[in-house]
Amino acid sequence: MQSPFTGFHDPDTAEELVQRVISDPEEARWRSGRALSRSTHPDVRGHAVRLLNSYLKDPESDIEIRTAYRITLALRLLQRPLPPDDVEITRGYGARFRPESTEAFSYANEEEFPVIDVHVHPKEPDGTLLTELLYAGIRHAVILATDTDPVDLEREEIRDMIYANYTRSDVADYMNFDEVLQQIGDSLYSPGHVTNQDIADWIDDYPGQLTGFGSVDLCRDPAYVEKTLTWLSQRPFRGIKLLPFSQFFNPETNENMDLLMSWCRRQHWTILTHSGCAPGVFEDPLMNPDSKPSLWAGAASRYPDVPIILAHFGAYGRKHRGYWFEDALDTMRKHENIWADTAAVWGMMSEEDVIKKIRTSVGFDRVLFGSDYPVSRVMPGKTAGVVRYYLANVLLTDDEKRKILYDNAAALLNLK
Ligand SMILES: [Zn+2]
Repeated sequence: MQSPFTGFHDPDTAEELVQRVISDPEEARWRSGRALSRSTHPDVRGHAVRLLNSYLKDPESDIEIRTAYRITLALRLLQRPLPPDDVEITRGYGARFRPESTEAFSYANEEEFPVIDVHVHPKEPDGTLLTELLYAGIRHAVILATDTDPVDLEREEIRDMIYANYTRSDVADYMNFDEVLQQIGDSLYSPGHVTNQDIADWIDDYPGQLTGFGSVDLCRDPAYVEKTLTWLSQRPFRGIKLLPFSQFFNPETNENMDLLMSWCRRQHWTILTHSGCAPGVFEDPLMNPDSKPSLWAGAASRYPDVPIILAHFGAYGRKHRGYWFEDALDTMRKHENIWADTAAVWGMMSEEDVIKKIRTSVGFDRVLFGSDYPVSRVMPGKTAGVVRYYLANVLLTDDEKRKILYDNAAALLNLK
């Protein structure tokens, strides 16, 4: 069998790869697990699974929590299938159909209508992620880091802030505060997180198809923020991903905001920030007041040359879907440098009044397609199904579809 991966150095032995998983620095969570998942030898993969399990299960091994996470992650990555025979993944570029492939198709007509996806969390191994993008006709994707840390919860002012929100919210009716802190803490460090180093590794491997946005935990002190942004500026990052609810900052009052914005101005970085409700206890908007789009108004007017993308159009949420959509539109209307992506709120785009409101207020020139991969994998037809859903949308004109799926992101990020 020919390997679907080309350009990577020869596969190491399972022992070496497993040793690398164990000894990688904590900021490189995915690197060696991904290398393991690229191995096409069933023996190497099987042996690696046994070795990794033996570390996890050995009561004597006394492994650190972050190492245990990495092992769990590597085991999960090894369970993913290899790319299909008609796909080739090349280091330096990304995924292509092999020329001899009979399945080489692109329903999105790759030549005239490629897709750019501005919202991808690379939480799957290379073969799974890149094949999924290829089948969806996505030529280029922006991949996002999330810099969050459970130690933030040890700070009194942060616990007080969460407590104040908690007492105002409905969450107080069904959860005690310790459970809330526990749930938030678990969400801040999980195998699903992708660090700045992980994103740097991905864009180093596939610069042809992936653009990287780093992340910075804005509730930390200015020295930490400066150090992180300096590190990001030394690598080919193109923007910053922020999560006000899990980086515990209010965009209007955060002391690091001007520091961040001036870095963005200097580096020509774009900001992509979560907006709307969020998973877990943050489904309640009163627990999550910092994810309100208009809190960005001040930063947007002080730095009109820094583009700010409101992820999820202010509308994310299961219980309160669309909660800040109007607020997002209003903020976009007042600030030309504010954009929105439709990640995980694709359903909205088939609602007539939503389309009408966008068309008559800000138009479609600042609306971007986001799959929120791997969220899109659970949709019918997976990520390709989400793209197809747009292409079949009868409320949008062809021109508007093209703007959302390609033109706007190409112009904003200068991508081809
Ligand atoms: Zn997301």
